[in-house]
Amino acid sequence: MTKPTLIQPTPDTAPPLSNFAEAHGLARKTKVPAGTVIFNRGDRRDVAYIIDSGEVHIVDHTNEIVGRLGPGDIFGEMALIDQGERSASATAVKDCKLFMLSRDLLRERMEGLDPLIGLLISLLVEHYRVARRHLPESIKQAADSDLQNRLRTKGSVVDGTVAREDDIFSFNGTLRAQTEALKELQVEQELRIGLERREFEPFFQPILDLRSRRLVGFEALIRWRHPERGIVFPNDFIGIAERTNVVQLLDHMMLEKSCEIAGELNRVAGDPNGPIYISVNLSGLNFANSDLAGAMRQTIKQAGTPIHQIRLEITESALIADAKKAESMLNDLRATGFGVALDDFGTGYSSLSYLHKFSFDTLKVDRAFISQMNGAGGKGLDIVRAIINLAHDFNLKVIAEGIENESEVPVLQAMGCEMGQGYLFGKPLSLSDAKHFIQKNMKI
Ligand code: C2E
Ligand code: CA
Ligand code: CA
Repeated sequence: MTKPTLIQPTPDTAPPLSNFAEAHGLARKTKVPAGTVIFNRGDRRDVAYIIDSGEVHIVDHTNEIVGRLGPGDIFGEMALIDQGERSASATAVKDCKLFMLSRDLLRERMEGLDPLIGLLISLLVEHYRVARRHLPESIKQAADSDLQNRLRTKGSVVDGTVAREDDIFSFNGTLRAQTEALKELQVEQELRIGLERREFEPFFQPILDLRSRRLVGFEALIRWRHPERGIVFPNDFIGIAERTNVVQLLDHMMLEKSCEIAGELNRVAGDPNGPIYISVNLSGLNFANSDLAGAMRQTIKQAGTPIHQIRLEITESALIADAKKAESMLNDLRATGFGVALDDFGTGYSSLSYLHKFSFDTLKVDRAFISQMNGAGGKGLDIVRAIINLAHDFNLKVIAEGIENESEVPVLQAMGCEMGQGYLFGKPLSLSDAKHFIQKNMKI
C-alpha cells in the first residue's frame, strides 16, 4: 500500500484560485488518490467533505473503522459547527473526488440561528459522536441497516410499534430533504467559487421597436460558463442563488458588466453616449440593502455610464414580500434616474393592484400570454389586449416578451404594443454577437 500523504488539493480546473477559494483552500472538486490521509485525529477542523466518488474510511482513537463512506456521504461535518479538533481520522481507501464545504459558507446561516438552537446542535452532534465512538462497529452497522430496513418495510415492527406508511414516507422524506440541503450547500459554494473565477457573464437579447423594427436595447441575461458543465442557464441556479443571498452578488456583477459594456455597444452604433440601453434584472432580495439606489448610482458613476443606458427589471414577487419597502426602493431608483420595468407581468397573483402604487415606466407582458394569442377561441388575444390597454391607462410603455412568430407582430402592433423581444428577433447573444446584431440592424 502507498504511504499515506497529507491531502494536497488538486483542482480539476486550470484557473488559479482567487480570494474566496484560495483563502479557504477550496477547489471545486478535489482529486484524492487512494491512501491519502484526508485529516488526522487532533487536526484543527476547518472544512467538511462530501464524497463525489470513491470510498473513505473514518478511524477512531482505538484504530477501529467507525465509518465506511461512499458517494453522497458527508464527513468532517463538525467543522461546520465549530473549529475544534478532529475526533477521528479520515483516509481515502479508493481514488476519490471530494467536494469541500467551508465553515464560512454556513457562517451567515449559523449567525442567523437562535444562539440556544446553535448550542443545542453542537451538543447533540457531540453527544452523538461520543455515543457512536463507544459502540462496537458490528452493532453500529447492524443498528443502522436494521432500522433502515425495518422502516422501509410497511407493517414491520420498530421498537414495539408497527411501521406505518407515514413512517416510511417521513424517513424517505427526511433523507430526500437532507440530500437536497447538501446539494444546495454544494451549489452555493460552487456559485461563490464561480463568481471569484469570473465564470458568469451577461448575454444580450435584443429588444426592438415593433413599428420600425429598430433596436432600442438589450436585456442582460446571466450565463454561467461552468468548467465542467459548459453553459449553465439561470433557471438552474437563480433559485438557489436567491435562497442563499448569492443573487445580490450576481446581480451586482451583472450591473457592473452592463455598465462597462453599454458604451461599447453604443459606440458600435456610432455614438458612445447613444440611446441603446441594457436592461438588468434585479432580484427583490436586493431590497434588503437600504441604500440600494445609492450603491447602484455609485457603480454606474464609477463606470462613467450615462444613466439612460441602464434600465432595471423587477418581477412582481419582489413587491409581494414587503410592499411598503418595495415602494420606497422603487421611488429611490426612479429618483436616481433609472428606468424600471415590471417584469413577467401577469404571472403573479395580484398584478393589477401594483400598477397604481409603484412607479414603473414599462411593463413586460409575460411570454405565456404572447404564446397563447393564437389559441382557440381568441381568449389569449383578449387578455393581451386588456393588459396593453391597462398599461397605457397607467402611462406605461409595453414590451411583449417571447415573440416567436412573425404573425404575432402585426397583431401586437395593432394593439399599440410599443416594443417586443423574442426568438423571432434574436436569442440572447454573446457580446461579440450582440455587436454584429447592432451592425446588421443599423443597415435595415
Ligand atoms: P426573464 O427575465 O423573464 O428573461 C426572459 C427569459 O425568456 C430568458 O430566459 C430568455 O432567454 C427567454 N426568452 C426570450 N425570448 C424567448 C422566446 O421567444 N421563446 C422562449 N421560449 N424563451 C424566450 P433565461 O435567459 O433562461 O432567463 C430565465 C430567467 O432567469 C429570467 O427570466 C430571469 O428571471 C432570470 N435571470 C436571468 N438573468 C438574471 C440576472 O442577471 N439576475 C436575476 N436576478 N435573474 C436573472
Ligand atoms: Ca427580465
Ligand atoms: Ca420576463
